[in-house]
Amino acid sequence: MRSARATTAATRGQRSLPGIAAAPRDPERHAEELSPLLCAWFAANRRDLPWRVRYSPYEVWISEIMLQQTQMERAVDYFRRWMLRLPDVAALAAASEDEVLRLWEGLGYYSRARNLMAAARRIMEAHHGVFPADPEQIRALPGVGPYTAAAVASIAFGARVACVDANVERVLSRLFNVETPVRREPAAGFIRRWALRLVPEGQARDHNQAMMELGALVCRKAPRCGLCPWSGFCRARHLGVADRRPVKDDARGMTALQTVAGLLEAAGRVLVHRRPTGGVWGGLWEFPGGDVRPDETPQDALLRLLRDKTGIAARLGEGGGSIVHTRTRYRITLHWRRLIAPEKRGAAPPLPPGHSWRWATPEELARLPMPAPHRRLASLGLGL
Ligand code: SF4
Repeated sequence: MRSARATTAATRGQRSLPGIAAAPRDPERHAEELSPLLCAWFAANRRDLPWRVRYSPYEVWISEIMLQQTQMERAVDYFRRWMLRLPDVAALAAASEDEVLRLWEGLGYYSRARNLMAAARRIMEAHHGVFPADPEQIRALPGVGPYTAAAVASIAFGARVACVDANVERVLSRLFNVETPVRREPAAGFIRRWALRLVPEGQARDHNQAMMELGALVCRKAPRCGLCPWSGFCRARHLGVADRRPVKDDARGMTALQTVAGLLEAAGRVLVHRRPTGGVWGGLWEFPGGDVRPDETPQDALLRLLRDKTGIAARLGEGGGSIVHTRTRYRITLHWRRLIAPEKRGAAPPLPPGHSWRWATPEELARLPMPAPHRRLASLGLGL
């Protein structure tokens, strides 16, 4: 994995060319110097964050799951709001799904929120309410992958394990000038091995946080090498290729999807539908609609979907627009229109049996968990 070009430059100790950094100290041969430099930099530059006060496993866990969904500033807001309502594992285990989804609303991937609830209940039942310290037991909790297990084990409990996320991949692929795609072998294994080798005994909490912080603040997409504690060791910087590392797999193209939703009001209420659990946005409430077929207009699709799903024969009203959002590799356009209910002497039309359809008051709508584009639609169309 070691770059031939980097090796040559380093071993010759050649003078630096204009625009190219001085030859680095070899990061593999001087590996023991790296963590002390990194941790000293972290001590001077770390951000004060609410989950870096007590380092309780519950707080570290919640913060790590939130940080997988959003940027730091937003995560701090969500985290504070969450902790006011659900300050510990017991509170989360006892919370209703609607409350948890409402607190999670806007972060996306709602299965993560449901997994948090399931994991809290597992901790109450299988671990007597005490967060497990063993990385394997943490990993066995619902929704906890290898990265989250390592982050909680090392940051909350000090276990000597490596945390490899996109930040750490970026930093290490530059430090060692990894020239093949970082998510594939042999690069992935090389990065995993070095991520662990660099963790000093007894320093896992600071070291792992420092690695993530370096990736977030300094070794960013556009690296700020002048601020980096590892600039004297970094092969990619020396070779002037830092902005081309990490090497990624071919980018997947975005797929465009057309969807539609309608605002149907009757008797001071608006029609909403609860999505089935298990799929995308499972268990969240949304306005009626669905996918537009290639051979129909969004308006025709909306009337068809409403009629097929509820039996209600509505008409198009005035007002509408579109909301564009992205989810994984999909670029989704949500077309929306106001709808007029058939005349029923002021009463709301009857709904299909079951609990998945509801005529909601504006107050109820504000409390129900909704996917972000439908919350935006409630704001645009209903002023909520
Ligand atoms: Fe290398 Fe620059 Fe990243 Fe530091 S910030 S690891 S010097 S690319």
